[in-house]
Amino acid sequence: MVVPYRHEPFTDFTVEENRKAYQEALEFVKSQLGQEYPLIINGEKVFTEDKTISENPSNKEEVVGFVSKCSRELAEKAMQAADEAFKSWKKWDPAARANILFKASAMIRRRKHEFSAWLTYEAGKPWKEADADTAEAIDFLEYYARQILRLKDGIEINSRDGEHNQFTYIPLGVGVTISPWNFAFAIMAGTTAGPMVAGNTILLKPASTTPVIAYKFMEVLLEAGLPKGVVNYIPGSSAEMGDYLVDHPRTRFINFTGSKKVGLHIAERAAKVQDGQIWMKRVIAEMGGKDTIIVDDNADLDLAAESIVYSAFGFSGQKCSACSRAVIHEKVYDTVLEKVVNRTKELTVGPVYQDNTNFMGPVNDQAAFEKVLNYIEVGKQEGKLMVGGEGDNTTGYFIKPTVFADVAPDARIMQEEIFGPVVAFAKAKDFDELIEIANNTEYGLTGAVISNNRDHLEQAREDFHVGNLYFNRGCTAAIVGYHPFGGFNMSGTDSKAGGPDYLLHFLQPKTVSDMF
Ligand code: NAP
Repeated sequence: MVVPYRHEPFTDFTVEENRKAYQEALEFVKSQLGQEYPLIINGEKVFTEDKTISENPSNKEEVVGFVSKCSRELAEKAMQAADEAFKSWKKWDPAARANILFKASAMIRRRKHEFSAWLTYEAGKPWKEADADTAEAIDFLEYYARQILRLKDGIEINSRDGEHNQFTYIPLGVGVTISPWNFAFAIMAGTTAGPMVAGNTILLKPASTTPVIAYKFMEVLLEAGLPKGVVNYIPGSSAEMGDYLVDHPRTRFINFTGSKKVGLHIAERAAKVQDGQIWMKRVIAEMGGKDTIIVDDNADLDLAAESIVYSAFGFSGQKCSACSRAVIHEKVYDTVLEKVVNRTKELTVGPVYQDNTNFMGPVNDQAAFEKVLNYIEVGKQEGKLMVGGEGDNTTGYFIKPTVFADVAPDARIMQEEIFGPVVAFAKAKDFDELIEIANNTEYGLTGAVISNNRDHLEQAREDFHVGNLYFNRGCTAAIVGYHPFGGFNMSGTDSKAGGPDYLLHFLQPKTVSDMF
């Protein structure tokens, strides 16, 4: 028996003792910066000449680590190792596989602030955001371990006289996990551990800006007893390896989280059957968002402003669930806008690795910095700049939280994913129009409704077309096991990470009918 799942609590940084513990973890991680990291293929460390330099986005001079880059030849070795390991791993008792995740999660929990401190250094995460990322990683391990225990005996089906019918789930084979940098721990760990505990073997390609935290996770998995070859850590250039891994005839599935552009590219390539390939590849692709908070005329306007500000600017808006569109009933538009602008002016931006004073840290890298500033220029043409609108990349990649008012629903900054601290405001005349503008996007990931009108909330429940819909709260901060996560339309395959049927994406049901 395992105890029922409950999500990992967040750290209260108003408590002096917790702040001190985090500071100590930061100091420890600082002492570890600049090391070299190998690939891990078939349990062996493989150092390569060519290295990715992982930098601290708050302070770009500081190197977090030099990480070996996987070549095609090494990717092929990893594929062979994973293919071989699958033969025995698939036969492991699912409960024994789950135990590895329980152990790994206990190890991470013991060193929780250390992992979060790596995220503060490598991903530029403010303490609270890093703490939530680590908590989510722990949750994924705990939750998926329990899910495989639930599925391991299959599901009861009918049998007639003289027959015994059985319906069970078996794993698929070798999967490629391709993860983003924005939840560099949680998503990377969840999209690896889920298919792995289901009995598949994995080639893990983390994002190039955050490979060190993924190495730290690998270390834990191995320490927890994961057999060699079950997860192979192969960071490297997506240009060198991406298509190779996706096209490989032994790849059975691709578990991707990232942008729409790359997700669609992968889906298209994976659909082509290669020589020697004897299955249709499964593609799980969780992609971008253009997420909206709508505010009704009778809403709690302080709650609305607080929800918009936190959802738009938490982790500098670099969440697929971030609020980048605030659509407000015309009767309360001016008030909500003013409240949001005033709160935004109070937010501080700056380095996050020395102390906990800044609400927002940097954006991911120079490319993200330029992309967001370009959208800010577009926004200046499409709306009225109310606050922010500037960036400074002298030491790190800092961009001020930015609010644009009076933006048309079809404007580019209302339609395209910016993935930075920018929110656009639009006005609607009634609740129907609030919903219509919210749905007027190719994405469908998250959304929130701030309203005290139950009829309107019920209307939104039906008509607001997003995978994760929230009432009277912000649109970020989904919790594993409580808010299974994934979106509609161009937001991806809606695999619902942290949900009760997530593992089924990595399993195939088998029916056996035995006559006696
Ligand atoms: P990205 O540029 O699409 O990269 C995601 C991953 O794909 C990285 O590991 C990247 O490797 C790899 N990649 C890039 N090109 C590839 C190719 N041709 N073949 C195979 N792999 C390739 O996205 P990102 O900038 O890291 O992450 C931000 C995006 O992720 C946003 O759009 C956000 O909305 C989305 N996201 C979605 C969810 C969700 O659950 N729906 C959650 C988090 C993030 P390199 O780093 O080496 O290029």
